[in-house]
Amino acid sequence: MVSKRNKGDEIQMSRIEDEVCKKIQARAAVGKEKYGVTMETAPLSKLEWMVHLSEELMDATVYLQKLIEIETESAHPRRDVCWWCGGKLIWQADHDKEDLMDEEGIVTHLQCSSCNASVEYISQGEDDE
Ligand SMILES: [Zn+2]
Repeated sequence: MVSKRNKGDEIQMSRIEDEVCKKIQARAAVGKEKYGVTMETAPLSKLEWMVHLSEELMDATVYLQKLIEIETESAHPRRDVCWWCGGKLIWQADHDKEDLMDEEGIVTHLQCSSCNASVEYISQGEDDE
C-alpha cells in the first residue's frame, strides 16, 4: 500500500526538530531586523555565501574545541592549579622521600607562578603494617 500525502498534511517531528525550526525562524527575524534583508533578498554572491559558511564553520570548530576542553577538564581535572589563588603551579624538583624521612617514595615540590605558594606532593606507600 502506498501512503499518500496531501497538501497541507503536517509532518510529525520530534521536539528536537521543532526547537531547531523555532530557532531558525527567530534568527531569520533577527537578521531581517538587523540587516533589512532575508535569505531570499540578501544581495550576496556565491563566493560571499561560501565565505560566510566558511567563517561559521570555523566559529563552530572553535566552539567545539572549547566544549572538548571543558569536557576533558571535568574528566581529568588539572593537577597544576594553586589551591590558594588558582595560579599555575610550576614543577621545581623531585626528591627521594628517604632523604627527608625514613620512608620510601617521592616528594615533588611545586611553586605557584602567581602567589609563590610552595606545594609538596608526598607519595604514600602501601600499608605495610
Ligand atoms: Zn597561588
